[in-house]
Amino acid sequence: MVKQKALTFPLTSKEIGNIVRSEWRYTVEDAIFYPAPHRYPCSSKPAGTHRFRITASMEFDLRCMDCKDIREYDGTGRCEACGGILECVYPRAILSTLGEQKTEEGLARFAPALPVEKGFLPYLGEAQTPLLRSKTICNELGLACLYFKDETQNPTGAFKDRGISISVGLALKTKSKGIMTVSSGNAATSLSTYAAACQLPCLVLVDSEASTPKLQQILVMGAQCIKVRGIFERGSEPLCELLSEVSHHLNYWPAFSWAPVNPYSVEGTKTIAYECAHITPDVVVCPVAGGDNLAGQWKGYKELYNAGVIEKRPRMIGVQPKGSAPLVSAFNRRENHVTPIAKATTVVTGLRTTFSGDHALKAVYESDGCAIEVDDRDTIRCKNRLARLEGIWIESSSAVTVAALPLLIESKFLDRYEKVICVLTGAGHKEQIDIDIRTGLQEANFDPDDILRKYLELVR
Ligand SMILES: [Zn+2]
Repeated sequence: MVKQKALTFPLTSKEIGNIVRSEWRYTVEDAIFYPAPHRYPCSSKPAGTHRFRITASMEFDLRCMDCKDIREYDGTGRCEACGGILECVYPRAILSTLGEQKTEEGLARFAPALPVEKGFLPYLGEAQTPLLRSKTICNELGLACLYFKDETQNPTGAFKDRGISISVGLALKTKSKGIMTVSSGNAATSLSTYAAACQLPCLVLVDSEASTPKLQQILVMGAQCIKVRGIFERGSEPLCELLSEVSHHLNYWPAFSWAPVNPYSVEGTKTIAYECAHITPDVVVCPVAGGDNLAGQWKGYKELYNAGVIEKRPRMIGVQPKGSAPLVSAFNRRENHVTPIAKATTVVTGLRTTFSGDHALKAVYESDGCAIEVDDRDTIRCKNRLARLEGIWIESSSAVTVAALPLLIESKFLDRYEKVICVLTGAGHKEQIDIDIRTGLQEANFDPDDILRKYLELVR
């Protein structure tokens, strides 16, 4: 029997106890979410300090992207002085070894340039995903060299496995009692999988519109899952405070994959760049929600460039769906800060967000790239075409990159002779199916004539 209960935040200690003791085994429907009473401005940290600290043995600093001061992790990804986003910086001597041949599997091969030692990193086969050269779509578009970085080949079918692997490693290193996140789906399925692999208790808060395949994956992995209505609609500050408060109460590692809260998981995302740099792309096209994917990859290319491993860096292009494009609005107005939008409306659920991070905007400017919005209908069309023309089944949030290509060519931002990578972030089978299987099926008798007749009807 599935137990259901409505929750309000902040949780009481009894409710937290129930979650920790796994008495609520399955989804708690439609928890009502209230912003925590003491809101904090973006430029300051939440009241109280976090109990997790990453220290000592690792050779990296946490540095503010804006004032460049070195900071200590206090449970937020923000500089306590200026509110800038924090990032991990490594000595050049470490980064310069990234061009060497490695024998380790998964993220461990990049461990010296990660915020957690390889002994703590779980491995389920993540990373080293294929970089596939387009055979058909590139010809249609008249592009000389188009690649797809196929992140759908990660263990849970999404690029999130890279950042989540880092988060789970940090939870193990800090001896956290468990791990938690909030996600529209992909980060949640990834976290529940990696937590299961490490036997780490796991709590995921999901948007009430998360797809059934994603929810099934979370529950099969045995994570505690709570649907929170409108969890992404209240903006980043109440959301960050909610996460900080719940994770603090539970002594769970906060694994929300967004650099303004968590400066570590983006270190997993940057390894996509490490794996693509050898082809020296001119342009990298990324879907953008919070912005970690684009910002993380840009960080990876910058690290390799600054350490002398590569000689040029690509232009980074952020793509968002119309109706959910705060980054594009900021870029079009040449602003330095992404202003959240009131409401996000798009069928591309993986990118339905009202806010994006300033780190992604900074990456677009630094790389001389751009941000562009695409129509939902074009996105769905490209998703289906990628399946039928290239044999790659992606979710719509990945298809925005392909939908952006004609616009980039038309606006002369992209030269047809340039080397382009579209980063495909999530697998199609994790999305609610939007094809009516009855229209593509025929039934026949155990009879060759009948089968051939029905086949001719299908191909007609
Ligand atoms: Zn600062």
